[in-house]
Amino acid sequence: MGKVCIECKYPVPVLYTTSQTAYDRKTGSPVRLTQCPRCKHFADKYVEHDFVVLFIDMILIKPQVYRHLLFNRLQVAEDDKPDRSITRLGVLLLLFDVYLTWARIEKQAPTPSSTSTLGILNQQPIVIQYIFFLLLCLTETIIFHSTIRFISFYYYGFTKPNAVSTALLVSSCTKLFPILMVIWNYDVPAAAKSVGWAVVVNNLEALRILLDVSYPKAALLAFSGALVRSLSTNMILYWTGLPMSGWGFEGWV
Ligand SMILES: [Zn+2]
Repeated sequence: MGKVCIECKYPVPVLYTTSQTAYDRKTGSPVRLTQCPRCKHFADKYVEHDFVVLFIDMILIKPQVYRHLLFNRLQVAEDDKPDRSITRLGVLLLLFDVYLTWARIEKQAPTPSSTSTLGILNQQPIVIQYIFFLLLCLTETIIFHSTIRFISFYYYGFTKPNAVSTALLVSSCTKLFPILMVIWNYDVPAAAKSVGWAVVVNNLEALRILLDVSYPKAALLAFSGALVRSLSTNMILYWTGLPMSGWGFEGWV
């Protein structure tokens, strides 16, 4: 049901056929990709690719990869049912956010005095410190998703809020990229800064594909979300007396 060609969005009944006798001569696999009747490309070449290829094409911001994920792989664009693997991805992204935020704040104030908020926070057991940053990032994420779901529902008339959240989570995958830099001991705030912008652009592209709106409309949506999130995070950091993240997108300093 409801598959599309990822090149031109033309509906196709199936993405591939399997056959024991007529296997693809080039690849030697029994899977034969469907050719799009309109644009003559393969309807969805990603059916045969593994996650690494998808991830790289996501970093390269290819619209086809989002059409594949949102329309063909996850049914969410059609029935608005959240996928379990996307829920897990959401948790992973949240935990990674906690790490990046914590690392950034510690780096910005390397020797906190014992009377400052960070000093007091540092004296708490590690679990309390962790819960603090977890709640901060959770609030930030909820505000971000709510803003974009709200605007897309009330202003763009898009009635599938879970599909919106899925698009945001999938397109935030590039956020996981600096984990390599963390392993190689790179400068965490600088990594977060460059990746932060890449994530906003990826969010924009995914929203444009899912909602089928123009670039300015998608940009307005993505930037409103990022702006409201940044404002609320900085407000919390200001109230608690912790170093703020400027006009940060994921710790942009
Ligand atoms: Zn096509």
